[in-house]
Amino acid sequence: MKVTFLGTGAGIPAKERNVSSIALHLHNDSLFWLFDCGEATQHQILHTPIKLRKINSIFISHLHGDHIFGLPGLLGSRSFQGAETPLTVYGPVGIQHFIETSLKVSTTYLKYPIHFKELENDGVIYEDNEYIVTTQLLEHGIDSYGFRVDQKEQAGSLLMDKVVAAGIPPGPILKDLKVGRSVTLQDGRVFHGEDFIGPPKKGKSVAVLGDTRFSSRSIALCKGVHTLVHEATFAHKDEQIAHEYFHATTEEAAKVAKLSRVEQLILTHISSRYQKDDMKQLLLEAKEVFPQTYIAEDLKTFQI
Ligand SMILES: [Zn+2]
Ligand SMILES: [Zn+2]
Repeated sequence: MKVTFLGTGAGIPAKERNVSSIALHLHNDSLFWLFDCGEATQHQILHTPIKLRKINSIFISHLHGDHIFGLPGLLGSRSFQGAETPLTVYGPVGIQHFIETSLKVSTTYLKYPIHFKELENDGVIYEDNEYIVTTQLLEHGIDSYGFRVDQKEQAGSLLMDKVVAAGIPPGPILKDLKVGRSVTLQDGRVFHGEDFIGPPKKGKSVAVLGDTRFSSRSIALCKGVHTLVHEATFAHKDEQIAHEYFHATTEEAAKVAKLSRVEQLILTHISSRYQKDDMKQLLLEAKEVFPQTYIAEDLKTFQI
């Protein structure tokens, strides 16, 4: 899994940072999930290898404009580019009304089916054979959700050394062994898949939080996750303003990372009041609490 930051600013677009959006790369870049879709997200996507038709899910943390104003345009362009595969939008109550009204008023017709899942409770909102997505209400001026994506445990790989040592010839028979089946060779020897498969591999995981104050709810959602993407709208010295506006500071984001025992923290949603030269300081104050911290930049990709 990888994440690409399409917009890393707070509130309004700035030259260096567009408003919020993050793309999660799945299945070797053949599928993408979007988290939030601020204005001009589709312009940012033009600078990446992401194709709109490969996005099949969009998760919206909350209904503030800097997280949703890019939706109508992006949805329309996806249709214009010929996408016919369905798309699901997850988000707080009201997201369906916003999208349907924007499309209707602008007479935008989508050639693909669009589904809505409005969030009303915490817990699992999506599950398939490989991934499970959990959501948790955070602490912001309006309902704002965090999303956690866990990849399920992956089957171990075929131990080729053992296969060769046992004298099993290459061919389709190896596929059966890999999925744990028993096979019988032409000479009558029988082998069991379980004897040739390595230990299962732990799945990857990432949590993408919407706008929020420092909150124990964040910690509950992020426990043990590999990568935490947390807002850091304000510097530590502006802690009071952060609290008043229902946002978090660099240091508070780092505290969540530390208390959740994550592997790495990526800070985003940086206020435009901080210039490029301030980034060193913002990063430093987070690293003092949680060393494995990075600051996101527009169009930057991180490995999970
Ligand atoms: Zn915001
Ligand atoms: Zn907000």
